[in-house]
Amino acid sequence: MPEILAADSPVILTVDDDPTTRAFLRTSLESAGLDVIEATGGEEAISLFAEHRPDLVLLDVAMPGLDGFATCAALRAIPGGGSVPIVMLTGSDDLGAITRAYEVGATDFEVKSVNWVVLGHRIHYLLRAKRTLDALRASEARLAAAQRIAKIGHWEWEAVSGRHLWSEQTLRLLGTQAVTKPCHEEFLARIHPDDRSRARYAFDDALLASGAFDLEFRVGAPGGDDVVVHAQGEAIVGANGLVAGLAGTLQDVTERRRAEERIRRLAYFDAQTALPNRILFQERVLQAIADARRSRRLVALLFMDLDHFKQVNDTLGHDAGDLLLCEVAGRLNQAVRDTDPLTRGVQDSIESVLARHGGDEFIVCLSGIERAEDAARVATRVLAALEAPVRLNGPEVYCTASIGISLYPQDGEDPETLLKHADAAMYQAKASGRNNYHFFDSSLSFRAFQRLSMETSLRRAIERGDFVLHWQPVVDVSEKTLVSVEGLARWRHPEMGLVRPDEFISLAEETGLVIPLGEWVLADACRQLREWSDAGHGFRVSVNISGLHLRGPGLVDTVRRVVRESGADPHRLEIEITESAFLQNAQEALHTLRRIKEMGVRVAIDDFGTGYSSLNYLRRFQVDTIKVDRSLIRGVDADGNSAAVTAAIAALARGLHVTPLAEGVESAGQRDVLSRQGYTCMQGYLFGKPAPVEEFSTALAWGDDSPPPAAPSSNSTASIR
Ligand code: C2E
Ligand code: CA
Ligand code: CA
Repeated sequence: MPEILAADSPVILTVDDDPTTRAFLRTSLESAGLDVIEATGGEEAISLFAEHRPDLVLLDVAMPGLDGFATCAALRAIPGGGSVPIVMLTGSDDLGAITRAYEVGATDFEVKSVNWVVLGHRIHYLLRAKRTLDALRASEARLAAAQRIAKIGHWEWEAVSGRHLWSEQTLRLLGTQAVTKPCHEEFLARIHPDDRSRARYAFDDALLASGAFDLEFRVGAPGGDDVVVHAQGEAIVGANGLVAGLAGTLQDVTERRRAEERIRRLAYFDAQTALPNRILFQERVLQAIADARRSRRLVALLFMDLDHFKQVNDTLGHDAGDLLLCEVAGRLNQAVRDTDPLTRGVQDSIESVLARHGGDEFIVCLSGIERAEDAARVATRVLAALEAPVRLNGPEVYCTASIGISLYPQDGEDPETLLKHADAAMYQAKASGRNNYHFFDSSLSFRAFQRLSMETSLRRAIERGDFVLHWQPVVDVSEKTLVSVEGLARWRHPEMGLVRPDEFISLAEETGLVIPLGEWVLADACRQLREWSDAGHGFRVSVNISGLHLRGPGLVDTVRRVVRESGADPHRLEIEITESAFLQNAQEALHTLRRIKEMGVRVAIDDFGTGYSSLNYLRRFQVDTIKVDRSLIRGVDADGNSAAVTAAIAALARGLHVTPLAEGVESAGQRDVLSRQGYTCMQGYLFGKPAPVEEFSTALAWGDDSPPPAAPSSNSTASIR
């Protein structure tokens, strides 16, 4: 019966029905430093095995009851019993028993004898082999676990024999369907058809050059959920120094690639429309240009801007605007790619990239085209695609576009130039009536082009409201109060900084942009007026309105609307019209001004003295203020002639019950002369330069409606060109 066993000596279970044999065995084993437990038959062996987990079993073949073979098979079936060495004890002449023992899973056999001298040593050898095997199994298990966790599979290919070895993880990566006999063709067959030949070449190259391979391919059938695999490995060199095959790893990088793809989408695509963004577009254009240079073909850039998109946004709201953009993006995508069966031959070689440029602007790059007409055909298709109305949760809107086209190489050799020229051409398309396309006209002179691009950016600035009003005080010099402030427009240009009106008003006039600008100015001034009134200030606000605006149909309505929307007091609003604007088309101007005055809005004549207004006109216009031009004020304290003119104007104004106002007063000398002539209202650097509202309001805080000190103006124009 078993004694208490020392923990570190190996335990041997001997199984034999013959007590003499058991005694011999015990003596021999114990003398070799082994611990022994004994069983007298198969059943007892099985229960002792389960209880003591011996390191080795010595098992007699011939026993009553369960014999050695059945016991061996039963021991092997016990969990953990598969790896314990089992040595069968056979008779000297029983070859058949040896063969059967092997079949039921015995590890070794020993011929029974009376001399067991070397048995103990044999057992030690067997135990050592078993430990080595265990260590190997454990390390294999660890490796397999590591590979499974890292999703790395291992494979080997012996080129000569064709033998292919796939680790479990490799099997998992290459697809779950059973492999009867792993071979190189089978391996390749699991690779996505589009990647297969690339992989085959990589393996062949490594084999031929005795080199390495490192590539990625997809696994699985097309259309399925692709697994992306990173394969790395090298040629194995046999003992004879020749290349014997390949060994490599496979790693599942699907997740990593997906994450990279997500990042790429964020960086390269517009979230709203899912179209490529400018960055990706730029890359594609560069590529297209490089290809075109080689193939001597053309690249066309189409710059499209939706006509009147801003109106949709303003009237139906941003959600409607967003919806419209997405719908338009979809149609454009279709139109740009669509192949017309009649022209398919030509169109097939054309590749297109549609991207969002921002806001309501879209850009297309067409590569592989041969003639400008190919681009025109696409532009026509785009315009046609937009013809059907878009339904926006209710209202239907019609959305047309204006398209500008530039061509590589004639209109530019880099993406920036091409885009700039397509943009300029787009404005030409807009100017010639919208809903059409226009090729960039390279015959435009440089100056004309500069003007055009200035116009382009001015137009955009107006759309975006990139303006700010600076405020210049008008003071009553006898009462020492602030009578009014004039709002003067400044363009917040992204590169040039604050741009003064001299640099953009005439362009705005020529292009008609002065009208939307005037609308913005009116609205902003009224808003500001309301704010100042609410803060308890009683001064007026004046704004400059262009003659073009005055002659146009919308001014009266605009004034009425902005006054109503801002809640400003119309009696505190004054619009300034230059003398020359009065004189053009006087009849209409008269009519418009009457209606404006009916609302209570005041009217001033600006730059008076530079035109030739007659007394009669002034009387009929019922103006409230005459602003005497700076050119006349300049010399009042020096030359008698100027002084005589200003004095006459002052007298004239008084006779008409109009307030004369002296502009551009810069010195105390001028102020004193003008004051004596009867000018009480003055404006000029002496009293304050135009300043942004923050500075102006700080000055106001000095005292209620008293003229703000000139101090804040000293640096107010520092940033102004
Ligand atoms: P303006 O209506 O005669 O405005 C007065 C101009 O004289 C302003 O130039 C102002 O900065 C400048 N100024 C004022 N006091 C003095 C002074 O003591 N000395 C000198 N040397 N200059 C003085 P700014 O702001 O450059 O405006 C130039 C013109 O641009 C304006 O002349 C006006 O005709 C036009 N303008 C300005 N804002 C608008 C606008 O919103 N709409 C329209 N249509 N025209 C505008
Ligand atoms: Ca003015
Ligand atoms: Ca003026």
